[in-house]
Amino acid sequence: MALSTLSPDLPEPHWPDFDRAAATVILDRLPMALWIVDQAYRLIYANAAFHAKPPAGLPAAIQCGDRALPDPSAVEQYTQWTRSYERALNGETVTITIGSASYHVQPLQCPQRGTLAVITTVTPADTDSATLFRTAIETMPDPFGMYAAVRNPHGQIVDARITAVNAAMCNATGYRREQLLNQRLLDLFPHYTNDGTFADIRRLIETGAPVRRITTIIKLSGEQRYVEMHAGKLNDGFVAIWRDIHNHYQLNRRIRQQAELLDQIADAVIATDLNYVVVSWNRGAEQIYGWTAEEVIGKRLQTFFETRFSNTTSDEAAAILRATGRWEGEVEQRRRDGTYVPIHSIVVLIRDERGTPTGIVAVNRDISERRHFEMLLMKANQRLEEAMIEARRQAAEILMVNELHDLLQVCQTTNEAAGVIAFSLQRIFPHQSGYLMVRQPGTANLNVLAAWGDSAIVPASTTIDQCWALRRGLIHRTCAGEGMRCAHIRAHPDDCTCCVPLVVQGEIYGLLHITGTELPRSELIVMTGDTIKLALSNLELRATLREQAIIDPLTGLYNRRYLETSLSREFHRAQREQIPLTVAMIDIDHFKQFNDQYGHDAGDALLRELAVIIREHLRQSDLACRYGGEEFVLLLPGVNRATAQTRLQRLRETVQRRQIAFAGQLLGPVTISIGCVTSEAGELPAHLAIQQADAALYAAKRGGRNRIIDVAELSQLPANEGHE
Ligand code: GH3
Ligand code: MG
Ligand code: MG
Repeated sequence: MALSTLSPDLPEPHWPDFDRAAATVILDRLPMALWIVDQAYRLIYANAAFHAKPPAGLPAAIQCGDRALPDPSAVEQYTQWTRSYERALNGETVTITIGSASYHVQPLQCPQRGTLAVITTVTPADTDSATLFRTAIETMPDPFGMYAAVRNPHGQIVDARITAVNAAMCNATGYRREQLLNQRLLDLFPHYTNDGTFADIRRLIETGAPVRRITTIIKLSGEQRYVEMHAGKLNDGFVAIWRDIHNHYQLNRRIRQQAELLDQIADAVIATDLNYVVVSWNRGAEQIYGWTAEEVIGKRLQTFFETRFSNTTSDEAAAILRATGRWEGEVEQRRRDGTYVPIHSIVVLIRDERGTPTGIVAVNRDISERRHFEMLLMKANQRLEEAMIEARRQAAEILMVNELHDLLQVCQTTNEAAGVIAFSLQRIFPHQSGYLMVRQPGTANLNVLAAWGDSAIVPASTTIDQCWALRRGLIHRTCAGEGMRCAHIRAHPDDCTCCVPLVVQGEIYGLLHITGTELPRSELIVMTGDTIKLALSNLELRATLREQAIIDPLTGLYNRRYLETSLSREFHRAQREQIPLTVAMIDIDHFKQFNDQYGHDAGDALLRELAVIIREHLRQSDLACRYGGEEFVLLLPGVNRATAQTRLQRLRETVQRRQIAFAGQLLGPVTISIGCVTSEAGELPAHLAIQQADAALYAAKRGGRNRIIDVAELSQLPANEGHE
């Protein structure tokens, strides 16, 4: 029976010179029932044997405070007990027999309560109380001993002698009883002088202060075991029991070591009971949160601690913990200094061996560093993504510029190119406006070829000196209200502008101008400008080459190759359309002589002049070629023989009349001979036409020059004029 079951309205019993816990243990070990009653026969104390087998007549369910008497109906027993109690309370010691058992009833003087009665059962064979006590001790499972102080001549306590031990003590130490009796305690356990045990024992004997401590005993085998020692003063010595707590103590030590281990880790390990009262707070927790263990142990977490949940609520987390025994997540928790720390938390419900929850343990990790790196990583990713988007944008721009290039490659004319350029610039620079200007060859003027966006900003033309970019040969950018603006710019004052000079082989070719609230990167503008200028200058070059391929450079008339390609086309068309076609071959008379007389350059001048005269006599549909040195061929579609005669006569006469000035002198008059043939309705094949015209020309020469001969006349001519 535990002392705590004593009724609260009764003062606790007094245990002079004896540790109460030790006394209780000893009394509960007694094989006989022992109980104490007060003056009103109320039960003050009863040992375990009393409760296990209540003495004769006494009720089994008796509690402290109840009267320790049988039911009054059992008259005889009732009377016996009241009389016995009464005698003891009056200071008498009696032994009574009720039923088969005898009881020893004696008075007990208690300082606070006066006289009490102590009753013990007595077995018939062993009525002597000392023997009883010895028997009780012997049956105790815990090692028990009685010790007498050993004093030196000055009366100082120097050791203790064993005067009695029980069987359990023999078992615990491994010694036989004879080996232990009269043995000196410090001979048996010399380490008691060092570990403080003997100092406690000396104080106990001197002052009566009970001893309760953890120490060790050394067995005969040398094995050392942890024991909990309870000792109380007895005469000039003491009694002690040694409870073996070796396994329990080892376990506790392991737990303490684990706690020390927990202190080594950086994570906060916080244990609370089910009401969140902190029971353990390791060094990691101190470091993360700033409170020391002393400050928080025993306090409810909520009174000083705050947790912010991000994806859940504290109620949800608590529900998960209750349901699954575990919750894990990321939270933010407030530190002592008021700042918040990001935490990865694992919370576990602790249960006892029956599965009943007993507490909560949280292992919290400070993840600020991880968060920091995550943030850096995120930023790096963001930058990478931006770079990729920029790269993709640039690739798309380059693709558009390439497309512009490809489109310009297949353009036949500058006009066509202008359309392509305006369309492409709109696509490449959709958020800006601008224009492309091209220089008029050999002048300082530039005219707009293409424009996009806001047409209000486009001037009709400009000159080189109105543009800083053209004057310096460098790209020229201005931002809103900053930098020198060129005179040709009409953009809004708040807009940015950019002029890119387009230079081909060191010559200013044109200008690309862009304006907008924001401008694209210069490389894109320059790249676009380069593409346009190269394509345009190529286009011009191609036109020049094409012209050179079919035009005779001296006279500007078509060359013989062009005639040959045109001839069959013209004949087919005439045939298709059933219209006449006249072919005339012209040759300057005595040109060799002219060259000889005035020089070759004068001859060239004459050839150029003749081309001018021929052009003057051509209609839109006519075609004039320089066929050879001073021979020309005219193709006159839709012209019949009669008309041909008239027109060619007019040409011949003009040539004859026209005087050419060269190098300051007038050159002698020149005549031409012409042979011609007319296919009235497409009946003549093309290759025969030239041949026949040539034959007619030959006839004209033979006929005296400065004349026209039609093939049709040849048959009428004398043989010597027609064939030679
Ligand atoms: P004919 O009246 O019979 O035609 O006499 P001709 O002197 O014109 O005769 P021919 O056809 O033999 O002479 C052609 C001359 O034309 C020879 C050459 O010196 C001259 N000639 C050919 N091509 C050119 C040219 O490009 N420039 C100059 N200046 N002379 C040329
Ligand atoms: Mg000739
Ligand atoms: Mg000639």
